[in-house]
Amino acid sequence: MTKKVSFHTLGCKLNFSETSTIAADFLARGFEKVKFGEPVDVVVINTCTVTSIADKKCRQAVKKAQKSSPDAFIAITGCYAQLKPQEIAEIPGVDIVLGMNEKFKLFEHIENFRKLKEPQIYSCEIDDVTRFDAAYSSNDRTRSFLKIQDGCDYVCTYCTIPKARGMSRNDAIEKTVEKAREIAEKGFKEIILTGVNIGDFGRSTGESFLDLIRALDKVEGIERYRISSIEPNLLTEEIIRFTADSQKFLPHFHIPLQSGSNKLLKLMKRRYNRELFAVKISKIKEIMPDAFIGIDVIVGFPGESDKDFADTYQFLENSDISFLHVFSYSIRPGTPAAEMNDKISPKIISERSQKLHQLSEQKHKEFYQKHLGTQRKVLFEASNSKGKMYGFTDNYIKVEIPFDKNLRNVTKLFELTEIAESHNLKGNVVIS
Ligand code: SF4
Repeated sequence: MTKKVSFHTLGCKLNFSETSTIAADFLARGFEKVKFGEPVDVVVINTCTVTSIADKKCRQAVKKAQKSSPDAFIAITGCYAQLKPQEIAEIPGVDIVLGMNEKFKLFEHIENFRKLKEPQIYSCEIDDVTRFDAAYSSNDRTRSFLKIQDGCDYVCTYCTIPKARGMSRNDAIEKTVEKAREIAEKGFKEIILTGVNIGDFGRSTGESFLDLIRALDKVEGIERYRISSIEPNLLTEEIIRFTADSQKFLPHFHIPLQSGSNKLLKLMKRRYNRELFAVKISKIKEIMPDAFIGIDVIVGFPGESDKDFADTYQFLENSDISFLHVFSYSIRPGTPAAEMNDKISPKIISERSQKLHQLSEQKHKEFYQKHLGTQRKVLFEASNSKGKMYGFTDNYIKVEIPFDKNLRNVTKLFELTEIAESHNLKGNVVIS
C-alpha cells in the first residue's frame, strides 16, 4: 500500500526550496504526495520564526494535520524547530523535531513512520551547524528557487535568523552550477537565486557572488535568473554592471532598506546609511532605467519617532523605486532590539504601515504606467487559471492574456497596451 505524505511550509522562498527537496526524497522512495489537510500517513511541517505569528501558525498547522489524520506521523523542522525544539516537542501529536543540521536526514532517523510514544528531538547548538544542504524548488513548471547560500554572520538587532540558521555558508561554485544544470534538464526556464544573505555567497569557500553569477550565466537551458534579495552593502557596481550586460540576469532588484533614518539604521546595526543606499538606487537606474526595484522596510522599530518615520517616508517618496515590502516590527525574544526602550504602540505601527502601503501602491502603479506602449520579453507560466494565463516581463511586470496552450513555459516579445482590472498589464505577443 503506497504511503501518503503531505507538506506544509511557513516563511520564505528558501524554506519552500528546502521543502521541495525533502518532498523529492519522499517521492523517490515511493511515497505519494497529497495536499496538506488531506488524510495521510506522514506530515512534514517546515517552520519559520521571523515573527511571533509564525510560531503560532506552526501550532495551528499541527492541529490541522492531527484533525485530518489522527494517526499520521508528524515531523517538524525549520527555523522555529532549531530555535525552540523542546517547545515544539511538547505540542500534542508531534513525533519528531529536526534541527537545522538534521532537516534533510529524516530517513536516517525513522524507518516505518509509526507514531512514537515519546517525541524525539534531533538538534544541536547553532554554532555546530556547519553543513550546507543544497536545495531547489520544483513545484511549478516555469521557475525554480535555487538555494545558493545559508545562514548569516550579520547581527541586525531585530533579527533571529542567525540563531536559527547559523553561520554564512555555501557550496562551491562548481556544485551550485551543477544544481542549475539539473534544474535546466527538468525543463525550468527561470531560476531565482535564494538564501539568507546571498550577497555573502563564497564566505565558506573563498569564492564570490560575482564569480558565481558569471558561472551560472553560462548554464545552457536556463533563460533567466532573478536575484531574490541582496544586502545594499553587498550590491557592488560590478554586480549591477554584470546584470545589465547579461542576457539572462534580469533588471529586477530586491534590496532591504529597513529604515530611511540613519539614527534607526545604527540602532538596527545595519551595514550602510541612507546615502549609500541612494547611491545604489541611482547607479541601477543610471545603467538600467527600466529596472524594477523592490524595497524591504520595517515600521515601528523601537525608538522610531515621528521625525524618523517622516525621514523614511520622504526618502522612499523621493527614490525611483517600484514597490515596498512593508513589515511591522515584531518583538523577537533574545534579540537586542527586544530589550530596547521606546516601543511603538500597535496603533501607530499600523498607521505608519498603512501610509507606506499606500506609497507602495502609488509607486507600483507609476512603474506599470511608465511601461505602457513598450515591448518587453515575457515568460508565460504553464497554468490555465479560469481561461487566463500569466507571466512576468524581465523587469517584473505581471501580465495576463487569454489562455493559449502554445505559450506555456515560453518566452515571447510582448507589447504592453493596457492596465487590466486586476492591475496586471494586458497586451499582445509581437509576431516577428
Ligand atoms: S542580514 Fe540582518 S536581517 Fe538579514 S538575515 Fe542577516 S541578521 Fe537577519
